[in-house]
Amino acid sequence: MNGSAGAIEGCYWQADRETREVSPALSGDIKVDVAVIGGGFTGLAAAYHLKVADPGLEIAILEAETAGFGASGRNAGFVMTLFGASVSMMKALHGKERVRQAHQYMVSAISALEAMIGEHAIDCDYERTGFLKIATAPAYISLIQDEIELFQSLGIEGFEWLDRDQLAARIRSPVFLGASWEPGCGLLNPVKWLNALRRLACANGARLFEGTRVSEVQRENGRYRLTCDH
Ligand SMILES: Cc1cc2nc3c(=O)[nH]c(=O)nc-3n(C[C@H](O)[C@H](O)[C@H](O)COP(=O)(O)OP(=O)(O)OC[C@H]3O[C@@H](n4cnc5c(N)ncnc54)[C@H](O)[C@@H]3O)c2cc1C
Repeated sequence: MNGSAGAIEGCYWQADRETREVSPALSGDIKVDVAVIGGGFTGLAAAYHLKVADPGLEIAILEAETAGFGASGRNAGFVMTLFGASVSMMKALHGKERVRQAHQYMVSAISALEAMIGEHAIDCDYERTGFLKIATAPAYISLIQDEIELFQSLGIEGFEWLDRDQLAARIRSPVFLGASWEPGCGLLNPVKWLNALRRLACANGARLFEGTRVSEVQRENGRYRLTCDH
């Protein structure tokens, strides 16, 4: 990081994006109600939603590099309901009801994201494209069909099997044998989304300090003391 531009080196999503100013590093002691460590999706969204819920909170976001430097600025941009490992493993580990709840949570997360994009007119190239999980070998056909059946047995709707011809009508390749189709999913540019979260958090009064690595977290009398580089 050179301290003047917030572009992430070698990041596909930023190949033709303009750079942005980097927020100054924290240079002295401050006291806040909430200190968020890390300016990725989690930290920026937490700061924004906390500020909306309670505008009086003093919130500082402490980011070691630049906001979006971690996975949030480098992911595939799929907006999907996937969680954990395979659904059969999740069911074995946590039981039917927890899997149902987790899936419902993911569905509502997509709705919340779409609502936020609409409410703030966020330009993040979001499209509700749907999600295809494609079988490229015969063994995958039964695996994917079993997964759809498992979802149905759990009372989870929204997945449909597309055979080779139905799939070819959407996306044609000689190696695509069929697919699970989940229309409720989408795609976005994660860096644009991240930058929107950063703007919203800051516009609502959260303070972002970039180039500010937290090196130690200590608990003292029910409060926390964070030590940063400077
Ligand atoms: C290759 C890849 C592809 C992915 N594809 C998808 C996808 O298509 N769809 C999807 O939903 N999810 C995807 N994910 C997962 C998704 O990107 C992550 O779940 C999400 O970005 C996590 O956000 P976060 O804010 O928790 O973490 P991060 O984005 O990693 O943010 C953590 C931040 O903390 C900072 N930090 C670390 N240590 C310190 C410290 N000591 N002091 C201060 N700051 C610190 C880091 O610099 C970083 O900016 C993908 C992940 C990867 C790696």
